[in-house]
Amino acid sequence: MKPWPVVGHQWAVRQLQTAIERDEVPHALLISGPDNVGKMTLARLVAGTLLCKGQSDERPCGVCLACRKLASGSHPDFMPVEPEAEGGALKIDQIRAVERFLALTPNESARKIALINAFERATVGAANALLKTLEEPPAYVHLLLLAQDADVLLPTIVSRSQQIVLRPLAPDIVAQALREQWNVPAEQAAHLARISGGRMGWAIRAATEDAYHQRMEDALALLLNLLDQDLPTRFETAQALTRDASVGVSETLEYWLTGWRDVLLIQTENAERAIHQQHRAALAQIAQHVPLSATVGTLKALEGCQEALQRNANPQLALENLLLNLPGGY
Ligand SMILES: [Zn+2]
Repeated sequence: MKPWPVVGHQWAVRQLQTAIERDEVPHALLISGPDNVGKMTLARLVAGTLLCKGQSDERPCGVCLACRKLASGSHPDFMPVEPEAEGGALKIDQIRAVERFLALTPNESARKIALINAFERATVGAANALLKTLEEPPAYVHLLLLAQDADVLLPTIVSRSQQIVLRPLAPDIVAQALREQWNVPAEQAAHLARISGGRMGWAIRAATEDAYHQRMEDALALLLNLLDQDLPTRFETAQALTRDASVGVSETLEYWLTGWRDVLLIQTENAERAIHQQHRAALAQIAQHVPLSATVGTLKALEGCQEALQRNANPQLALENLLLNLPGGY
């Protein structure tokens, strides 16, 4: 089989392709890693290869009927599932639908595949429902589970799955791929690669969708504004952020983390490593006025808030709590 067209993660590609060739794909595959690192790309390639009916050594071939049905979302043996609302939970009804789907034998291929995204947001009931399916799956069943962090999942689910852990890519690999495969000019490619934190999917979207890049700029502008806001205004900001479904709260937190990491870099005389060089003056201003301990505390609070959201905390409460404790008055 030809190697899949994936940027980085070559060890995972080899491992998965070998498993497919030997017909040893596990019933449950758990691919974990940060948002936009490549979990979905890899999972769709696994599903595509398992379902593809092409005869060439390029699988998925992209042209056979099975591949075209998969691409158009109409393959009867493939079921993608994810939380219905941005930042929402994966519900027990959704897992029950997966159970019903997997209970019937395949229609057009030898397998049935369910791809469950953001499994870290499964409710306890949903996770337990899935556990039942994992206990004695029919031979034709494959479950592809994607999660940011396997540590927050039920250990009984993790132990019944084969795990693939995707790590962020080196910025050089991201930059090179942007230049060579997406024709991004070298300077912009290097800039986006730095900000991407090694997440290829993020870098591609930021390079190809103006709106996506703008979302990061808006999040950073808000971060800078927040410090001047009084408490009632911060409450309003928290409400507005959780109401605005176009930008996920976790995405905004991710950008704030990159901004505060830059503040820390400036404070520790590593300013040249800061990724938001275009906001350097404003970030340096914060670095000057906020004590180092408050910067560290803020980074911890941001990470804590992200973890709370992964565990299905109420986004508005989590954000209010975060914003009220941010440094301010500069
Ligand atoms: Zn095909």
